[in-house]
Amino acid sequence: MSERTFVIIKPDAVRRGLVGAILSRYETKGLAIVALEQRVIGPELADAHYAEHIEQPWYPSLRDFITAGPLVALILEGDSAIEVVRLVNGATDGRKAAPGSVRGDFSLSNQANVVHASDSPGSAAREIALWFPAFA
Ligand code: ADP
Ligand code: MG
Repeated sequence: MSERTFVIIKPDAVRRGLVGAILSRYETKGLAIVALEQRVIGPELADAHYAEHIEQPWYPSLRDFITAGPLVALILEGDSAIEVVRLVNGATDGRKAAPGSVRGDFSLSNQANVVHASDSPGSAAREIALWFPAFA
């Protein structure tokens, strides 16, 4: 079933010049880019996006990281896109993510882990509405 998911290529990846390499993973997998925008976000959007994590002791550091420079926000579409993109991205901690996954190949950190992707249909709908209201 075709569905849409929300993805961030995080500031660490943009800074390292990995946007093309990461987008290529999604495109060669067969996913379509529906929307894409590079932007710098402020703490308000960071808090709304990561609402489930704002009480975590590591959240202030995550907020500093995600607002520190340009990121690329996008919507991807395809069969089972939400689950497929989570698999393509790999486990949260880049040190433990499987080689071959985006995080497994490009990250050695549990914070600077190069990508975000929605984890459920509810999260995808919420995040698309938050970041790309014209596509909600
Ligand atoms: P995921 O991005 O795989 O859905 P989570 O929702 O658990 O992972 O966490 C959101 C983001 O918060 C992670 O992608 C990572 O950037 C950051 N993060 C998670 N756990 C930690 C941690 N223990 N210390 C610092 N940052 C973390
Ligand atoms: Mg998450």
